[in-house]
Amino acid sequence: MPSKYAFLIEKYDHFYRYPEQYRMKPFKIFGNLYFVGNADVGSYLIDTGDGLILIDTTYPTTRALLVQSIWEAGFNPGEIKYILHTHGHFDHFGGTQLIVSLSGAKTFLGAPDAEMFRQRPEMALISDTRYTYLELFTPDVELKDGDIISLGKTSIRATATPGHTMGVMTYIFDVADGKEIHTAGLYGGIGVNTLCRDFIDNYGNMNYRNFYLDSLEKVRGEKVDILLGNHTEQNSTKKKYEEMRDNPAEKNPFIQPHEWNDFLDFATELFNRMLRDEEAGTDQI
Ligand SMILES: [Zn+2]
Repeated sequence: MPSKYAFLIEKYDHFYRYPEQYRMKPFKIFGNLYFVGNADVGSYLIDTGDGLILIDTTYPTTRALLVQSIWEAGFNPGEIKYILHTHGHFDHFGGTQLIVSLSGAKTFLGAPDAEMFRQRPEMALISDTRYTYLELFTPDVELKDGDIISLGKTSIRATATPGHTMGVMTYIFDVADGKEIHTAGLYGGIGVNTLCRDFIDNYGNMNYRNFYLDSLEKVRGEKVDILLGNHTEQNSTKKKYEEMRDNPAEKNPFIQPHEWNDFLDFATELFNRMLRDEEAGTDQI
């Protein structure tokens, strides 16, 4: 019996076969920050004033949607200068090679995940995609804790938050609309699918569990007032988008100072619940 916390290929089968059904219109979140992902996975475009930064490139099967969304948001994918990745799983780098071929963009990935690509390439989980043509990329920059990535008027601080993978990077940066400035935060990965019993039995990565909670605590208290999600359910992207579209005169629903810590609480509970279920033997389906 598989763990209910495992990544279930069947659940995503429809997604892989019919990616166009997961299309979302791109939109401006605030100021120079845009959503260009799909209904499942986030991808963010930042107009730095001196070229574009893209964070994450979605699934290999949705990369055409990503290119379309970047154009529709008003930008040329060929003008992307940097591609940052939250971590080294296929659903966050599926379009990277395509965007690099269009733009020559420089790629960034947490150093431990670059090492994972070299030593344990199967842990990028490409075999889960049913799109096994996807190849790993070699990042131009292997990020370390505390690195700052600067382009134009944008500076993105990368904080190492290992747990979901050892190279998860959390990105925090200011976004601006004229004189109004807010701070966006994208926690780089909270899934416990890589920490559940089945996965650990398969890959032998018991040590991941030692980092998960400490990483959440490490970024607690950051002054983030725009929570981004590397999967859209983490920050209710679709609901907020619809609110913004239907009530453009109302306060921007993405600006919520309490959401960052609420999200860290949610991830803490996700992990603890998995451990409790495992203890009780109720983690199997
Ligand atoms: Zn992942």
